[in-house]
Amino acid sequence: MTEDNNKKALTDIASLGEFGLIDHLTKGIRLRHPETIAGIGDDAAVIDHGDHASIITKDLLIEGVHFDMIYTPLKHLGYKAITVNLSDVYAMNGEPRQVFVGIAISKRYSLEALEELYAGMLLACEKYQVDFAGGDTTTSPSGLMISITAVGRAAREDIVYRSGAKPMDLLFVSGNLGAAYCGQLVLQREKQAFKANPQMQPDISNYPYVLERQLKPEARQDIIHMLKEAGIKPTAMIDISDGLASEILHICKKSGTGATIYEEKIPVDQRMAQVAHEFNIDPTTCALSGGEDYELLFTIDQKDYDKIKDLEAVHPIGHITEAAQGHNLFTSSGQLVKLTAQGWDPWKK
Ligand code: ADP
Ligand code: MG
Repeated sequence: MTEDNNKKALTDIASLGEFGLIDHLTKGIRLRHPETIAGIGDDAAVIDHGDHASIITKDLLIEGVHFDMIYTPLKHLGYKAITVNLSDVYAMNGEPRQVFVGIAISKRYSLEALEELYAGMLLACEKYQVDFAGGDTTTSPSGLMISITAVGRAAREDIVYRSGAKPMDLLFVSGNLGAAYCGQLVLQREKQAFKANPQMQPDISNYPYVLERQLKPEARQDIIHMLKEAGIKPTAMIDISDGLASEILHICKKSGTGATIYEEKIPVDQRMAQVAHEFNIDPTTCALSGGEDYELLFTIDQKDYDKIKDLEAVHPIGHITEAAQGHNLFTSSGQLVKLTAQGWDPWKK
C-alpha cells in the first residue's frame, strides 16, 4: 500500500448499516451460470436443476452478538440456529432438505455443552424432517460461532420471490408479531438484575410465551403447506427476521411498489402486549421493529381472497400500492405515518 492510500479516510461500516454494507460489497457481482436463477437479494439463492430447483441460504450466529450464554440454554440455541435457517427456505415456498453446520468453539465449551447444542439441532432436524448432512469444526479465540447452510427444494414454478408483489395485492402475515423481542427485553432485564445481585433468582416464570418465542422459535412450515392446500401461491414472500416494517420495505423495494398497512390489523398476542406495557413500549412498535419472530409476510392476488379468508393462522394487514404512494401505516387513532425500518441491525445497537 502506498503512503497516499494510507492517508485515505477509511469508512466506518456503521455508517452503511447491514443492508447498505451488503449492497455495497455485492453490487458488482454478476452471475455466470444460467442455472443460478437467483443469487443475492432474496431470502435464499435458487439454482435450477431442470426438473426441480435448489434453494440455498446461509446464516451466521455469533456469541455476544446474536445470543448471550448467560440466558441461552444450548439446546434451545441449537434448535433456533436450525429453525431460523429453515425459515428462509420456507420464505421461498420451498421444503428444506439438508443442513450443513460449521462451528467455531472456544476452550470455555465442554463436550457436554456441545452435546446439548447438537441435541437441539437434531431435534429441529427431526421436527422439520431435514438431513444433517455435514459441516466444519474449528477453534475460536473467544466465544461460540455457528454458521449454518440450509438446502431446500421446490418445483421452479412454485418458488416465491420478494419481487412479485403488484399494486392491489393483499398483504398477509402469519401468527403474531413482537413477542420474540419482548422475550429479549425480559431476558436482558433479568441479566442486569443478576449482574447487580448474583444471589437474586431470575424472575422469568411469568413470561413463558414471550421467552419461548425468543429462545425457541419455530419456522412456519405449516403455513406453506396450508397455502398450498388452499390452492394459493403468494405473489411475494419474506420471513420476518428484522421486524415487520423492514420486511415490508424489502418486498416493496424488490417489487417496485409501495404499501399501506393498518395498525389495528397487525396481529399481536395479549401476552406480548402485557410485557410491552410493563416496559413502557407500544406493542405496535415491538411488532414493527422488534424482529426475530420468524413469521411469514406475503402478498396474494385479490382473486385468492376467498380461498384464504377462513384460514385462522394468517391475517390481512394491508395492501400493496403504486410506488409513488410510498410506505404507510394507518394508526388506530386515524393518523397516516410513514413506515420506516428500524429493524435489528448489529451496528446500530
Ligand atoms: P435474511 O434476513 O433473509 O437471512 P439477509 O438480510 O441476511 O437475509 O441477506 C439478504 C441477501 O444478502 C441474501 O441474498 C444473502 O445471501 C445476501 N448476503 C448477506 N450477506 C452477504 C455477504 N456477506 N456476501 C454476499 N451476499 C450476502
Ligand atoms: Mg429471510
